Amino acid sequence: MRNLEIRQFPCLSDNYGFLVHDSESGETAAIDTPDADAYLKAASEAGWTITQIWNTHHHFDHAGGNAALKAATGATVYAPIYDRHRITDVDHWVADGDRVTLGVHVANVIHTPGHTLGHVVYHFAADRVAFVGDTLFALGCGRLFEGSPGDMWQSLSRLRAWPDDTVIYCAHEYTQANAAFARSVDPDNPALADYAREVGEKRAIGLPTVPTSIGKEKAANPFLRPDDPTLAQSIGLEGSGPVDVFAEVRARKDRF
Ligand code: ZN
Ligand code: FE
Repeated sequence: MRNLEIRQFPCLSDNYGFLVHDSESGETAAIDTPDADAYLKAASEAGWTITQIWNTHHHFDHAGGNAALKAATGATVYAPIYDRHRITDVDHWVADGDRVTLGVHVANVIHTPGHTLGHVVYHFAADRVAFVGDTLFALGCGRLFEGSPGDMWQSLSRLRAWPDDTVIYCAHEYTQANAAFARSVDPDNPALADYAREVGEKRAIGLPTVPTSIGKEKAANPFLRPDDPTLAQSIGLEGSGPVDVFAEVRARKDRF
């Protein structure tokens, strides 16, 4: 099995677009559709033809280009069934536990309510690669537009259980702001201090901070650490459960 090839490119103001390619079958999946033109340009530069579109959730910066990209390529569109009333141009609805394939590469569909109620992520378990949309960000997580803190913590717990070397492709470049916030709630975490320094250096020269990995996020991302006693103590919730700590960290981020 040859490795998946992945192209990442900026879209809109702070989204990333992703193309995933399997050279044996020639299949290429577009992860979300923030900007059809940017995807067509990236595909043509790579010499790839987009054969599939995989949506993570209904927001415009993730599914807004479905019609244009499908019309230009004839790609087959997969999207979360939980969003069937609000994503258009879909051929196949997918649910938790389903699998989508790119040649011999298999991605598990995982329902991750929180940012929206219908959000899914695509996890190539054997390839150690995942596309997580707006569920998990480098040093952050998606804003809770629709789900509860309990929903999001349960969703993030499933991602946290993946192997540390799983490569995580998040849909936005939010990391520098996330790092500043993370330092405010977890100031004595040395892994976070190192990570924040690296992020500052990368952004200063215009480099992306995506992808990240589960191992890096487990060590430094406060939204994956609500069961860490030091974090709970630092926000005055010593002895509280992870959902309460998670809810307080998320509420502080919304005000930061
Ligand atoms: Zn979103
Ligand atoms: Fe988004």
